[in-house]
Amino acid sequence: MRVRAATVVERDGPVILDDLDLEGPSDGQVMVRVVASGVCHSDLSAITGQIPQPLPAVLGHEAAGVVEDIGSGVTTVSEGDAVMLSFITACGRCRYCTIGKPNLCRPHWRSARGCLVDGSFPMSKGGVRYNLMSRIGTMAERIVVMENSVIPIPASTPLRIAALVGCGVTTGVGAVLFTANVEPGSVVAVIGAGGIGLNAVQGAVLAGAGKIIAIDVRDEKLAHAKEFGATHVINAAECDPVEAAIELTDGDGVDYAIEAIGNPRTVEQAFNMLAFAGTAVVIGIGSGDAKASIPIAMLPYGERRLVGSMYGSARMRVDMLRLLDLYAQGRLKLDELVTKTYPLDGAPEAFEDLKAGRNIRGLLQIHDA
Ligand SMILES: [Zn+2]
Ligand SMILES: [Zn+2]
Repeated sequence: MRVRAATVVERDGPVILDDLDLEGPSDGQVMVRVVASGVCHSDLSAITGQIPQPLPAVLGHEAAGVVEDIGSGVTTVSEGDAVMLSFITACGRCRYCTIGKPNLCRPHWRSARGCLVDGSFPMSKGGVRYNLMSRIGTMAERIVVMENSVIPIPASTPLRIAALVGCGVTTGVGAVLFTANVEPGSVVAVIGAGGIGLNAVQGAVLAGAGKIIAIDVRDEKLAHAKEFGATHVINAAECDPVEAAIELTDGDGVDYAIEAIGNPRTVEQAFNMLAFAGTAVVIGIGSGDAKASIPIAMLPYGERRLVGSMYGSARMRVDMLRLLDLYAQGRLKLDELVTKTYPLDGAPEAFEDLKAGRNIRGLLQIHDA
């Protein structure tokens, strides 16, 4: 089968729309007609190499669609089911899956990158294998992925909304709810008010945080943060955000600082603005050799904690469905995240807009349903 896909073939190269050959689904695999795929900053990091990504590759890791075909042995979905994609393929039986950390699934993180966890490459062109971003490569009309990469969702869920839960929403909201376990009434700072940071802000609203302090260098992003529930904003281009955050908390510092950028300086700021017993959570993915410098005495003095969060520490098959349920109840603002929709062929423009920071979230609408 021929499918159109948004690809990148060389480091820092352009986003290219191409027609690829799609094989499968084989044993344990499913074919999904992709309805919507979000455009995430990590897609850009896969192009630049900030996230290690073998090339050529099909981009995209935040999507939802409809199952079109299943391989032998597939039992959890059938043709016609609505599904969202998990960008981590959890085996369900390794030591991490077994201790309730499917987001750290061993085969997903430890086996060769770019292919499905069973080693196959469903997409190719002229005999050249195409890698798949996050083992799913969702910016394509149709994809073949492992059964363990798809999560069935209620048929009533708008698929463009389910797509967003595939990465940005779960990563941001989850960092607050599932990694930090924010307590009602506590003070939460969110550094970086982009797509992920805004979801951390609304996670803090859900958790019942007392003060929610959004920090960014762009006033329009801070305005968005207020719409999503920030009670205070700090423009870090105009002042020292650490001093400003400590001032807003009567000299104590914040209980939780969520870093949604992946920059050494903002990681340091997140740590340095913590109150006693405070927790800094790093969501942003820095480049492999980036290092931050923190005063280590602050760890024991005041029992501060510095932790990382991958995929919002979500147990995907439970927590992502809970987030969809919260949306259905009107308690998560997800429609408001999508500021521009593009056809699949609009992917190059969507990436330009991403680089320029024009959208909260851009979304490729690949099929109507
Ligand atoms: Zn993402
Ligand atoms: Zn596993």
